[in-house]
Amino acid sequence: MKSERVIIELSDKDLHFIFAEEYAYIMELLDSNVFCGSPTCGTQKNGMIMSSASLNHLNDISFEGACKNCGGNTGRYVEAGENADFFERAELIRTRLKLNAPKIPKSKTAAPKPDSRKSDKPKIG
Ligand SMILES: [Zn+2]
Repeated sequence: MKSERVIIELSDKDLHFIFAEEYAYIMELLDSNVFCGSPTCGTQKNGMIMSSASLNHLNDISFEGACKNCGGNTGRYVEAGENADFFERAELIRTRLKLNAPKIPKSKTAAPKPDSRKSDKPKIG
């Protein structure tokens, strides 16, 4: 069984929507405590210049950007999916993006065949 792991790029507007009144707090985190890939920085307090934010399949959000200390690749992971409010709003964004997605012909996405278990042999290995 495969679960779909779609990564969704979030705009600043989306982040405002998800975090609402906590938005400033989250931005403060990015400005004060991030992990820099450079061995000379590691976890550092200068923060990062955010370049992108993405929503993963757990409704957690990964921020990527440049380290304010060395300019290197820096990231910060926010477990937004653990907060019920954030989770719910992230789901709304997910749904909205699905609705806006290019239409796929119905025939390609039709419901599973009623007797698919008969014809599909289980894959071993
Ligand atoms: Zn750095």
